[in-house]
Amino acid sequence: MQLSHVYICKCNPNFNYKTKSSFVNHFRSKRHITHQQNVDKVSDRLKIQKLEKEIKILNSEVKIWKEKYFELDQNLNP
Ligand SMILES: [Zn+2]
Repeated sequence: MQLSHVYICKCNPNFNYKTKSSFVNHFRSKRHITHQQNVDKVSDRLKIQKLEKEIKILNSEVKIWKEKYFELDQNLNP
């Protein structure tokens, strides 16, 4: 039995690149670059959603601390 490398990229899953160099070269192809940009977009969108959620939580905490501060301030300076 002979072992061989299989070069497959997610941008073209049904295609098997015959050599390592043809596989590496395809990274500069429009198909691969477009695929990678789409992957990056999805990743960026998920990061943004996570950050928006964090901002919402932090804003809620700031609101609570602000109210506590004004309450304390009023008690100290009636
Ligand atoms: Zn690719």
